[in-house]
Amino acid sequence: MADAKTIGAVKGMNDIRPAAAETFLDTAVWQRIFETATRVLESYGFRLVWLPVVEETALFARGIGEDTDIVGKEMYSFADRGGRSLTLRPEGTAGAVRAYIEHGLARNEPIQRWWYFGPMFRAESPQKGRYRQFYQIGAEMLGVAEPGADAELLAMLWRFCSELGLKDISLRVNSVGDAETRKAYRDVLRGYFAGHLDSLCEACKGRLDKNPLRLLDCKRPGCRNVVEQAPDILSTMTPGARAHFDRVLELLTATQVPFVRDARLVRGLDYYTGTTFEITTSALGSQDAILGGGRYDALVEELGGPATPAVGFAAGVERLALLLSSAGVPTVAPDLYIVPMAGAEALAFSLADALRDSRKLRVEVGVAGHKLKSQMRRADRVGARFALVLGDEELANRRGKLKNLKDASTVEVTLTGEALLAQLTGMHT
Ligand code: AMP
Repeated sequence: MADAKTIGAVKGMNDIRPAAAETFLDTAVWQRIFETATRVLESYGFRLVWLPVVEETALFARGIGEDTDIVGKEMYSFADRGGRSLTLRPEGTAGAVRAYIEHGLARNEPIQRWWYFGPMFRAESPQKGRYRQFYQIGAEMLGVAEPGADAELLAMLWRFCSELGLKDISLRVNSVGDAETRKAYRDVLRGYFAGHLDSLCEACKGRLDKNPLRLLDCKRPGCRNVVEQAPDILSTMTPGARAHFDRVLELLTATQVPFVRDARLVRGLDYYTGTTFEITTSALGSQDAILGGGRYDALVEELGGPATPAVGFAAGVERLALLLSSAGVPTVAPDLYIVPMAGAEALAFSLADALRDSRKLRVEVGVAGHKLKSQMRRADRVGARFALVLGDEELANRRGKLKNLKDASTVEVTLTGEALLAQLTGMHT
């Protein structure tokens, strides 16, 4: 707890660190997620982008929509020194589209597969699975209108979740149709909800006029009951939008990705057109969405670029980490912990460097002069596989004992980089 003298982290913002007591904040678990994402997403041709965390506020207001919870209530916005309104990004798509337009890709190289891993900021009330600084892994597939792109993205996400070993998850898919579909559907919904005003919460009553689709998302029990009987968007879907959606579902079936159609899945950002999806889990209580996304065919144009179709997703890294356990996740531990007694530092450093030159081994050197016992204790605590003590005798004879910290067995080695490397890499395999 912070007292008068110490300053704590900002509420809802976490420190991800090695060997954290809460598994989901443990660096090793995060690295496993990052590595799995890199492998799977890159195997589909996605390439990493690192984009600014701060953008002009207008980008999100225009991109995500003024009436959404994110823009209306949750943004960390501030005036910079020049009086411009800037915002800590609440999501990654608007910034990715901004960069895509700014670098002329929409005109010159329209098909892009981008992915990212980074922090997002939303001033939501913190609870398990919901934070104010949280991380997302996301991808944007720009420049392709065909339903194959949607299906391929979903197949990739299913593979990503399987390779992480996630269980009890389900993929829910819907379509919010094209502009004509949504216009007709909004009218149908307004008519339907008008007959059930008494059961709706105040927030939904307020949204009914401007954005009736958002009512489908409300979690309050009164609204849920009404929503369950609401007309399906398929009833107003144009033939073109329907054909796209049907083809996505057909391709998912053909590639054996299990899914359920969820007629209520509209998602909380205004830029979606056509396919929308979420993967949810039964293991996280109310914050059950681990990832979501969909098509946003109008966003590039809305942000000033040429009309460009696109589809993307974002996954919450904390939620993924909450579903994983640190069991079986390899930590970044030294292969060798060198324990130098007073005066043995130079030898310790040169042996450590020779091993690092191999690019195969991790070596940590203890603090020369600290007691043998305390250095050995630290070697254990950091999870080192082997320890090597360098005292007067070892310095004099240039021979030492390599101790296996797992089973306490020892083996004699000559103290040269080559001999140590041969010994350690030999024992690796
Ligand atoms: P969204 O950008 O709202 O579509 O969210 C995509 C994913 O990001 C969600 O499925 C969650 O896994 C994650 N997410 C969204 N908001 C938060 C938050 N406040 N804290 C942690 N994860 C979040």
